[in-house]
Amino acid sequence: MPAKDALSEYKKLRNFSQTPEPKGRAKAAKKKAETHFVIHEHHASHLHWDLRLEMEGVLKSWAVPKGPPTEPGVKRLAVQTEDHPLDYIDFEGVIPEGQYGAGTVKVWDTGPFELLGQMDREIKFHLQGKRLKGTYYLLHFKEKNWLLFKGKE
Ligand code: MN
Repeated sequence: MPAKDALSEYKKLRNFSQTPEPKGRAKAAKKKAETHFVIHEHHASHLHWDLRLEMEGVLKSWAVPKGPPTEPGVKRLAVQTEDHPLDYIDFEGVIPEGQYGAGTVKVWDTGPFELLGQMDREIKFHLQGKRLKGTYYLLHFKEKNWLLFKGKE
């Protein structure tokens, strides 16, 4: 079960009468055949990519300033951001000027996501997207800062 207020930060940051983004609700995590990921290309004040993984009834989210690595041996900073609702997974659109995250959001990649392991400071997972395929790691090192990299096959 997600915490009742799993999306409170998401909602606090947005004015839903102004932004086309989904209002969303946290859903109880349930056993499903498949979970998914998305990477949004977000043309905000600074272009970045948002990695979102379907976990615990929400989309756990990280902003990746330089984009996700497609090959092993490249480590990229991934800054954890607020949990997003599950229905954000196929969101595309323009967040209006003056709103949080103003700019164009496009789906850069999406597909099945499998959680392989989760420890205190490490999440190991498998992505089966069009652009990203293989085993990936997120390592937590400081405050909201993580490292994202691809495992050697
Ligand atoms: Mn973003």
